[in-house]
Amino acid sequence: MPDEDPNNIIPPPPTERDFPKRNEDHVKKNAIKMLNEEIKPLWKTCHKSHTKEFDWSLLVKNGEITKPTGKYTAKRFDTQFWRANVEPSERYVLSVAGSSKYRLKADESGYKNLYLTGDWIQNGMNVGCVEAAVMAGMHTSRAICGIPKVIVGESGLG
Ligand SMILES: Cc1cc2nc3c(=O)[nH]c(=O)nc-3n(C[C@H](O)[C@H](O)[C@H](O)COP(=O)(O)OP(=O)(O)OC[C@H]3O[C@@H](n4cnc5c(N)ncnc54)[C@H](O)[C@@H]3O)c2cc1C
Repeated sequence: MPDEDPNNIIPPPPTERDFPKRNEDHVKKNAIKMLNEEIKPLWKTCHKSHTKEFDWSLLVKNGEITKPTGKYTAKRFDTQFWRANVEPSERYVLSVAGSSKYRLKADESGYKNLYLTGDWIQNGMNVGCVEAAVMAGMHTSRAICGIPKVIVGESGLG
């Protein structure tokens, strides 16, 4: 999701109360467009033959046990859950192409006896996930004490 202002990624002050709502609206709009357009090559039978629009009756509404009948519009999307991750703790480093070379290794803090760890270091997987965090922990352990000798997946390091 792009920032509202790419030159200023700092969230606005709490007094700007419609900031989360604005971003949620953005996510909703994006999701509806994705269902109507981008998902087509993957979900080949989920669009109405006449309008080419997504078949909104396919969305499951919480608590609804029978398959809905009748005509549904994109308004049916309101029965779904979605959110915009705009809190600072929800924001996340991306693994954009060519960025791995900027990641520091566990023993590259620049200080003797200070080791780095976390999913953001050069860990062989280099994406923001728990697996990468675990691999990073192993790299850091190895930098400190030499163990583990082998880290599965580290050959991707580079
Ligand atoms: C919204 C969101 C959804 C995610 N979903 C998934 C998912 O579905 N699957 C998946 O595999 N991964 C997911 N991730 C990624 C996953 O959470 C991270 O890859 C993982 O938690 C990274 O672990 P870490 O130990 O490197 O860092 P963290 O878990 O961030 O741990 C770092 C810790 O250090 C603490 N800290 C920072 N500074 C200091 C300091 N000065 N002194 C003391 N403590 C400090 C922090 O408070 C934090 O507890 C998600 C991440 C986010 C933000």
